[in-house]
Amino acid sequence: MGEASKILLHACCGPCASACIERLRAEGLEPVVFYSNANIAPDGEYRHRRDEARRLAGIMGAEFVEDTGASHAEWREKVARGFEDAPEGGERCRRCFEFNLARAAGQAARMGIGFTTSLTVSPHKRSATVFEAGRAAGGGAFRPFDFKKRDGFRRSVTLAKEFGLYRQDYCGCEFSRRDREAGAAGRPPGGTPNG
Ligand code: SF4
Repeated sequence: MGEASKILLHACCGPCASACIERLRAEGLEPVVFYSNANIAPDGEYRHRRDEARRLAGIMGAEFVEDTGASHAEWREKVARGFEDAPEGGERCRRCFEFNLARAAGQAARMGIGFTTSLTVSPHKRSATVFEAGRAAGGGAFRPFDFKKRDGFRRSVTLAKEFGLYRQDYCGCEFSRRDREAGAAGRPPGGTPNG
């Protein structure tokens, strides 16, 4: 497959990325799975999701790149500070999308390709907000795929089961974990908080 058809896929986690890889290939694109999620805490959870995303890339025969250039401490300072108690789906999350997608934009620019994100798979994430963050981060290099369309979320659940992928029960940061544990997230049964 030629270099021109590659696209960087910012992957929030393995389960969500699975349906995106399939969909992008159906569109004639070859995704490079990019794991850049400095939002995830604690470290063990970050590593577990990363390892599963890497394993998925191996199963599906996709290239995998981990972003080691951003720390959770930096994310807390630049994204979460002052927004620790914002509800999920609010301002902290918008800033979180922008942070991760700016990392993806930088990687895509270095590779000379466009980029997109698996964040739109999740029914808990508003695609329009993700698109705004992607365009702010990368302008025309951002490709706004709405992966929850065409039953994308359901497909991600099916593929994750097929591949035996770990599926987390909170979005990623310590604040979403806190809210999850407090039962404040109010998510519908069968859903997944991360996308
Ligand atoms: S809840 Fe999820 S999207 Fe929102 S700030 Fe935390 S990790 Fe980011």
